[in-house]
Amino acid sequence: MGPKTAQRLALHILRRSEPEVEALARALVEAKKQVGLCKTCFHLSAQPVCEICRNKNRDNNIICVVSDSRDVIALEKTREYRGKYHVLGGVISPMDGIGPEQLYIQPLVKRVSQEKVKEVIMAIAPSVEGETTTLYVGKLLKPFTKVTRIAFGLPMGGDLEYADEVTLARALEGRRELD
Ligand code: ZN
Repeated sequence: MGPKTAQRLALHILRRSEPEVEALARALVEAKKQVGLCKTCFHLSAQPVCEICRNKNRDNNIICVVSDSRDVIALEKTREYRGKYHVLGGVISPMDGIGPEQLYIQPLVKRVSQEKVKEVIMAIAPSVEGETTTLYVGKLLKPFTKVTRIAFGLPMGGDLEYADEVTLARALEGRRELD
């Protein structure tokens, strides 16, 4: 939650009666209890397996790898992508003590090596950490499948969620094989 959202929430709470705020607090606690991670792709999900993974109309042959659940939501908004996802839960960042073992990289390698996946699209926002993550994960997956990455044109250090839908759709469209 950013400072602006926090401020809006605080104002909203101030204007409400105490029972209303209590009801909101209960709803938040309930949401916290219900939301977990999909055991296949690690996207936010109220069920053990998320809606996207369960959707039979989606292409199993292609997996788009993102750092965060917010990126899944951003990519879904483009309505261009019909494959599956895999959420890493962050990017490799030694400065912050985040190594590959803190991310959901092993489950991804297992998934790609066991299922017949034809293509993995690396869709990590461009930054030094993002680049390290893309190359590291790409190397692990190459023995099993074709690995591509979304086209740049996304601003360096920018998050996927802040890119507009047209830019994201183009980045996906213009993906190229990872060398
Ligand atoms: Zn899932």
